[in-house]
Amino acid sequence: MHARPADPKKLIRGATGDWEVVIGLEIHAQVTSNAKLFSGASTEFGGEPNDHVSLVDAAMPGMLPVINAECVRQAVRTGLGLKAEINLRSVFDRKNYFYPDLPQGYQISQYKSPIVGEGVVLVDMAEGGSFEVGIERLHLEQDAGKSIHDQHPSQSLVDLNRSGVALMEIVSKPDLRSSEEAKAYVTKLRTILRYLGTCDGDMEKGSLRADVNVSVRKPGDPFGTRCEIKNVNSIRFIGQAVESEARRQIGILEDGGSIVQETRLFDPGKGETRSMRSKEEAHDYRYFPDPDLLPLEFDQTFVDGLAVHLPELPDEKKARFIAAYGLTPYDAGVLVAERDTADFFEDAAKGRDAKAAANFLINELFGRLNKEGKDIASSPVSAVQLGAIVDLIADGTISGKIAKELFEIVFTEGGDPRAIVEARGMKQVTDTGAIEAAVDAIIAANPDKVEQVQAKPTMLGWFVGQVMKQTGGKANPQAVNDLLKSKLGI
Ligand code: ADP
Ligand code: MG
Repeated sequence: MHARPADPKKLIRGATGDWEVVIGLEIHAQVTSNAKLFSGASTEFGGEPNDHVSLVDAAMPGMLPVINAECVRQAVRTGLGLKAEINLRSVFDRKNYFYPDLPQGYQISQYKSPIVGEGVVLVDMAEGGSFEVGIERLHLEQDAGKSIHDQHPSQSLVDLNRSGVALMEIVSKPDLRSSEEAKAYVTKLRTILRYLGTCDGDMEKGSLRADVNVSVRKPGDPFGTRCEIKNVNSIRFIGQAVESEARRQIGILEDGGSIVQETRLFDPGKGETRSMRSKEEAHDYRYFPDPDLLPLEFDQTFVDGLAVHLPELPDEKKARFIAAYGLTPYDAGVLVAERDTADFFEDAAKGRDAKAAANFLINELFGRLNKEGKDIASSPVSAVQLGAIVDLIADGTISGKIAKELFEIVFTEGGDPRAIVEARGMKQVTDTGAIEAAVDAIIAANPDKVEQVQAKPTMLGWFVGQVMKQTGGKANPQAVNDLLKSKLGI
């Protein structure tokens, strides 16, 4: 990783000059697996409280953890997707602290020897260009349970369903330099995890949460003291947390104060961060290797076996879409953001002008799905139907304008696009005789306009509009233009 020079566009203007924000993220991603990290209890979301709790999760005396091989495979696959070093030997440690929703009195995590080491994520920015974010490490750990304080007037309740669920903590290097970059990084990381099928990335259900580390400095200075904002649970909030925290720190520094390293919380209602605990109050977790678990060891053959079966990842897919289909990097980037969307595009593009299919998908279908709050998996228009509409435009059966009407019919009513065009008389009129009749009628009825267009050829648009109106929008626009020009002598 080369240090990037400060980008003037990303600096924050303060009273004493420009400031650069420095961000590093610790992402907690819930591993997609049926059972928990060290027990056979279900990881299913939304069960009745304490329905998915084994004796291990409840930390009954004498219970022993047994590592779930599927969670190990998922962590290794994620490491491979992050182009990271896979450690053939890693160690589970106990991170000791007391909390009512942590029955063991410690969390089993990995500290000095994580399962995955350094890697890299390539992040594309909406305005073009891309940059790399270094991955420091990825380790496996247990999730805690949940304390519930609002169900009883005088007691707190605890739900251990999440207790022991496998999390991957993915720690980035402090390589991010703006809230936009932080949001783009999380978006990309989420895309990679979803492609791999190692985390569903559902932030509303808490499957992906971020601890956001923020510091500020004058460009060129060494890193400043950071604050860590815990447990931010949406991409939008991550952006807001960075912005408000950077401004807070700049305010303190410009007033002559200094930043105290501390843990803070983001309040989405106020859009601000507030102190949770300072470094002095930070826990001493007294990490030590869990004596109940052997070091986790596997060989390179195991890793290679998983590598062979990795799916095509978003960066490779994007490069292929650009090379094979001639898409712009922007369009290719939009299409590969979700694996379902990329697959839909490839089905719709098969055997026809792929760029036309991509355009119709991005410009028409995406907008329409958005409006209905639907995603591509629940799209009422299939790839086959979308492809058929693109074909009808390509072979001149319908104009682009009629195609939009046809799309709306297919979206709301379904059906075979070509049959709909036949049945509802939506075919484009390419028969010059019919178009000529309309052109003649318009010219005859508007002698004044005919005079004007001789002096001002841009008036032609008005004539085209009239002919299209007369033909119900079905006249071939090219034929209309050609005929009008020759008849008007312009
Ligand atoms: P710790 O061991 O105290 O958790 P780490 O070095 O592991 O600290 O860093 C935790 C996170 O904080 C990482 O994501 C890292 O990129 C980020 N980080 C470290 N230093 C800074 C800094 N000065 N400003 C912003 N983020 C930082
Ligand atoms: Mg840390």
